Amino acid sequence: MKQRAQFTFEVEETIVLRQPVSISNVFCRQCGSIVGIALPQTVADLSRISEREIFRLVEAGEIHFIEAKRFMICLNSILMFGLPPDDGASRRPKVGS
Ligand SMILES: [Zn+2]
Repeated sequence: MKQRAQFTFEVEETIVLRQPVSISNVFCRQCGSIVGIALPQTVADLSRISEREIFRLVEAGEIHFIEAKRFMICLNSILMFGLPPDDGASRRPKVGS
C-alpha cells in the first residue's frame, strides 16, 4: 500500500509602514476622474516598485502625477500600469557566477 505525505508551507510577509498611510482623493486630468493619490514613498512602500522606478515611470509618462503642495502619484495609474507578478526572484539568492 502506497503512503502519501503532504507538506504545507505557509509564507508570511510583514509590511511595516513608517508613517500612517495618507491617501487623498483629487481629480486626475489624465484619468478624467476622481482618484486616490499618495506620496511616491507611500506608493513604493505599498507596491514592489522602488521610489526611483516610480520617478522614472512618471518621467516616461507611464504613471500620472499631481503636483499640488507636494508631488503625488495617481494610484489609478499605478493600478493601470500593473504590478509585476511576485515570483520571488528578487528574494532568491544568486547561484554561481
Ligand atoms: Zn490618473
